[in-house]
Amino acid sequence: MSSSIIEPGASGPQADARVSRPQSYRAAVVHEFGAPLSVERVRAAALTAGQVRVKVEASGLCHTDIHAAHGDWPVKPSPPFVPGHEGVGRVVELGPGVTEVAVGERVAMPWLGYACGSCDHCVSGWETLCLEQKNMGYSIDGGFGEYAVAYGRYVVRVPDGIDSFDAAPLTCAGVTTYKAVKVAGTRSSDLVAVFGVGGLGHLAIQYAAIAGGRVIAIDLIDDKLALARELGAEFTINAATEDPIEAIQRLGGADQAIALAVSPRAFEQAYGSLRRGGTLVFVALPADNEVRLPIFETVLNGITIVGSIVGTRADLREVFALHGAGRTHVIRETRPLGDVNDAIADLEAGRVAARIVFEP
Ligand code: NAD
Ligand code: ZN
Ligand code: ZN
Repeated sequence: MSSSIIEPGASGPQADARVSRPQSYRAAVVHEFGAPLSVERVRAAALTAGQVRVKVEASGLCHTDIHAAHGDWPVKPSPPFVPGHEGVGRVVELGPGVTEVAVGERVAMPWLGYACGSCDHCVSGWETLCLEQKNMGYSIDGGFGEYAVAYGRYVVRVPDGIDSFDAAPLTCAGVTTYKAVKVAGTRSSDLVAVFGVGGLGHLAIQYAAIAGGRVIAIDLIDDKLALARELGAEFTINAATEDPIEAIQRLGGADQAIALAVSPRAFEQAYGSLRRGGTLVFVALPADNEVRLPIFETVLNGITIVGSIVGTRADLREVFALHGAGRTHVIRETRPLGDVNDAIADLEAGRVAARIVFEP
């Protein structure tokens, strides 16, 4: 099949007008771990089988993008690369063989950029565990640019009526915490401790409440705790001034604790906050990759510890459906992509209410 290209933004009868593919576009590039990102023109590669080109409208800044830019994790990306796995925009070009989406459709480009589709994980609804996976903004270039290339089979359509600037944070922060609450098994009247009220945490509170949980939110910053109460948390604890383990045990202990704070200490506190039979969900990925947890108490108290990595396309569809139905609120501020380095500094310093979304 030949590629078809439209003028970005075109719709209606002009939608299939053919113009030349962009030769280059502006993007934020990591050249060296720990160095500032460079906003520069990059060459637009030709699409290969299964790929689509998307004109990005909105692109969220996840703390994972900072880990990527710093080379924080045991498996590292290879600079130069473009971060971003909360990109949302319109499909402007189809590579050979794409049947899943059409030019002009609005799609989200999540962390799970590609999976094989045929391994045991893929065929059992756990495509997020596929060993062949490629990750947007990590192993393949991501959404921090005017355009991005994704795989047609792994983008998710954004329903009409959802603002692209809301859809962006839902594409990682939303789907990840929605899945974490599913994995936690929250049921009505469960006490759910959400450690970290950042981009992920502000949505985790809402999904835990939707599942019927009574939510305790824990952070180090009072403004974030105030936001948590607005979003449905029944209890809040500032771990900088109060011991969250004692405070949560006084409430009877958490049935589930979800670790979203970029700090091993918070994981240990989340563990300590559980009641017997409770479940701890590991989600955050601090550079310091170790926690110290007791074996004896884990066994005797029947504790479950489970890791949770993003969510599937089906989970993201559910996330969009909930948002479209008015059940969730995305707290975000818009900034130009050119401010990427200041945005990263602000997020690291705790100066962001919940999520920054870039406008390319
Ligand atoms: P964020 O910076 O927006 O939020 C982190 C929050 O934790 C902040 O509000 C901060 O004040 C709070 N915090 C820091 N230390 C704390 C402590 N000791 N106790 C309580 N709160 C504390 O980050 P984010 O974008 O929400 O991402 C959070 C983490 O989740 C990152 O490590 C990111 O890489 C990871 N992540 C994992 C997945 C996954 O699939 N498992 C997906 C997305 C992000
Ligand atoms: Zn993310
Ligand atoms: Zn697979």
